[in-house]
Amino acid sequence: MKEKNSIIKRVYKFGDKHAEGKAEMKNLLGGKGANLAEMNLIGVPVPPGFTITTDVCTEYNKIGEKEIRDLLKTEVEEGIRHIEKIMGTKFGDKNNPCLVSVRSGARVSMPGMMDTVLNLGLNDYSVQGLAKKTKNERFAYDSYRRFIQMYSNVVLGVKEEEDPFEELITKIKELRGLSNDTDLSTDDLNELVYLFKFTLKKLIGKEFPDDPWEQLWGAIIAVFNSWNTERAVLYRKLNDISDDWGTAVNVQAMVYGNMGNNSATGVAFTRDAATGEDLFNGEYLINAQGEDVVAGIRTPRQITKEGSQRWAKLINLKEDKRKQEFASLEETMPSLYKELFTIQKKLEMHYKDMQDIEFTIQEGKLWLLQTRNGKRTGEAMVKIAVDMLKNKLIDEKTAILRMEPVKIGELLHPVFAQEAMKKAVVITNGLPASPGAATGRIVFFAEDAESWAAEEKPTILVRVETSPEDLKGMNAARGILTARGGMTSHAAVVARGMGKCCVSGAGALQIDYRKRFMEVKGKKYKEGDWISLNGATGEVYDGRIQTIIPEVSGDFGKLMKLTNKFSRLYVRTNADSPKDSKVAREFGAKGIGLCRTEHMFFEGNRIKAMREMILASDERGRRRALDKLLPIQRQDFEGIFEVMHDLPVTIRLLDPPLHEFVPHGQRTQEELAHEMGISLKEVQQKIKDLEEFNPMLGHRGCRLGNTYPEITEMQTRAIIEAALNLKSKGINAIPEIMVPLISTADEFRMQEKIIRSVANQIFKERNDNIDFLVGTMIEIPRAALRANHIAVNADFFSFGTNDLTQMTYGFSRDDAGKFMPIYLDKGLLRTNPFQAIDQEGVGQLLEIAIERGRGTKKELKIGICGEHGGEPSSVEFCHRIGMDYVSCSPYRVPIARLAAAQAALKYK
Ligand code: PEP
Ligand code: MG
Repeated sequence: MKEKNSIIKRVYKFGDKHAEGKAEMKNLLGGKGANLAEMNLIGVPVPPGFTITTDVCTEYNKIGEKEIRDLLKTEVEEGIRHIEKIMGTKFGDKNNPCLVSVRSGARVSMPGMMDTVLNLGLNDYSVQGLAKKTKNERFAYDSYRRFIQMYSNVVLGVKEEEDPFEELITKIKELRGLSNDTDLSTDDLNELVYLFKFTLKKLIGKEFPDDPWEQLWGAIIAVFNSWNTERAVLYRKLNDISDDWGTAVNVQAMVYGNMGNNSATGVAFTRDAATGEDLFNGEYLINAQGEDVVAGIRTPRQITKEGSQRWAKLINLKEDKRKQEFASLEETMPSLYKELFTIQKKLEMHYKDMQDIEFTIQEGKLWLLQTRNGKRTGEAMVKIAVDMLKNKLIDEKTAILRMEPVKIGELLHPVFAQEAMKKAVVITNGLPASPGAATGRIVFFAEDAESWAAEEKPTILVRVETSPEDLKGMNAARGILTARGGMTSHAAVVARGMGKCCVSGAGALQIDYRKRFMEVKGKKYKEGDWISLNGATGEVYDGRIQTIIPEVSGDFGKLMKLTNKFSRLYVRTNADSPKDSKVAREFGAKGIGLCRTEHMFFEGNRIKAMREMILASDERGRRRALDKLLPIQRQDFEGIFEVMHDLPVTIRLLDPPLHEFVPHGQRTQEELAHEMGISLKEVQQKIKDLEEFNPMLGHRGCRLGNTYPEITEMQTRAIIEAALNLKSKGINAIPEIMVPLISTADEFRMQEKIIRSVANQIFKERNDNIDFLVGTMIEIPRAALRANHIAVNADFFSFGTNDLTQMTYGFSRDDAGKFMPIYLDKGLLRTNPFQAIDQEGVGQLLEIAIERGRGTKKELKIGICGEHGGEPSSVEFCHRIGMDYVSCSPYRVPIARLAAAQAALKYK
């Protein structure tokens, strides 16, 4: 056994452009470990270190701490010696200490699983070494006290809520009359170290480990243990991650960007993350730690000269002042900049995608800490893919597969209407952190953005700088404006991720949270006042400015065109007006998959005739009202057919319970009584008669047309006559008449007969004809099961997955909102089945219906028109089970088109 164990390699070293691992070894080294190895192999300078494999974590779970330490001892000691050799340092040394970070890293990223331990190796001796070496005593002791805090938290299990350390810091500041942590002197920090250790001993009954080796083993074991915390176990369960995968442990030399003026730290993107422009860019700070750049406390400088000059222009900073106070890295450290520039190119070429890079310069030596595919806006996503395609860095398939379908939605984000811009007044400028246009009322607190959004009031969240607690409010606001922070500040990064308009670092703003106003150039804006933001230019405007939706063009258009080359499934739209139909057609819809006729009845005067029809006491009365509705419906259909010429238009016959159309206010009821020549009482009685206990399962769908055939007759007449009218003008209309909510084949058959006989009658009357189809929705489980019978007479099926989900789960569409968030929160449901198709349950019914329907009629046309038709995972499912098309709301058409192409590429 011993012999076998000794040949297993448990630790993989990397550093000095060599590595024992490589990118393909993700399963064994974890994502982070494999990446660190790979960076070395392509010649990127990363601080040296080693990775303990994920297999060791699994082994540890079986054999426990003591045994695992024995098995690892030699290799871990070798690993530290390897770091010491490259860095020229020594573990625990009084003069030149080797300090390391310890991090977890599973094969897939599991956010928040374990915090990092930094500065491991510090003790009362090595801290002096760090102080001597850096000639910065204060920094050394500050690092030491931070290390004790972090280690106690992560390794020794001192919970943050019972953290005694922050209290001690507050006390010492009070005693010295100081307001900031940064005001603490070296002596204060030294005293804190002593107090921390003393308090810790009281709390856990043990000394803080001074021996760096003891510290290291403690951290390694803590990483292994973090694999089995409640949080991590739940996360794995929710994300289908096997418990057996384990986490790797990465031990890596610390490097410092705060060792004086020849040190620096920064973040950079190989291309512009907001616009996608092929321009290296980023921010850095001299003599600072990594977190200082993103914390928004000091204003970071730009890395390139060009970026710096553009930035200065945006904030009206004169060139001499820029050079003096905010010079770029290209200007301050030209040779290091050159090295960084070459490395970023190399990384982008290697990973064939835009990279987000973290780097540190320690006393004149450049180190890359991290590289990953950079987060980007929808606009940047498209531009980068199209540019890389043009340069042959990637192929067409990769370009399509790399798109995130929901991000496409951002490209359809509003822009300001040109006309409205003529009168727009700029009140100040900030950085163009995340594009789009937003107009709304000022709020200063995230909770207000949320509660105002619930009341449908558009808001702009104005903060000095945002923090993670503001996330929900940022999501609820139309736009975000901050007074501080750069392009990589919290607000900027998060807003870009959300595809939300954001202007950051508008330095002229003075915000008074307490009195809830902001002041800019002498003018005050209170909470509730309107402002507007242009996230693409950084401009902030006074008042409300009208926004409009842009069109599909440029790179976006190119990419959309490319989707046609690969997709099998085509995309239609759900639209019931010429205006929506036009938008959808421009976005590439290949027809209408659902025109809900009932929506047309609510406009203007037509609701009156509709109500008359509903409340009529007999067929004669109903026909009289239907006669009034016929020309209106015909005209509506003409409008839609005209816009959708040469493309199929599926029109659904009346579906909702009639009760939804009747008036509930007394005044309208009186008016109606007057018009119908009956008493108010009679009207009220009729309305009462229409009430149902469960209207969604009541007198609706085809049950209306089968009990009142005259409704189906009128609607068919309107559709067929509209198509014929257009034909006479040379416009080709392709109607598909759809029967809603059937559960038996006979229900469909009865409606179909009415439709065909009315159509034939019109053809005779006009001595003309057109082609049309008659099909049905499948939205009741029984209909799915009886699909083979229904398909005998139906020309097409369209799945109404809203109702089908409602009836399969037995969740009311209208009431699920009460328990759905709790179910999602408790993990009882992974996703809301009304948003993404429940593939295991509802999906089975779809598959059964397709199989049985096509069993009867091979060429049966099948699509989906429930809300799921525009949701990417559902589109993929529809592709896999062999549907012909999906239909979704106009603005989701491009998303569905992309999802359809991706599905075709993934499942050939
Ligand atoms: C459906 O049920 O999925 C559907 C499209 O019809 P509606 O939402 O109008 O009930
Ligand atoms: Mg329905």
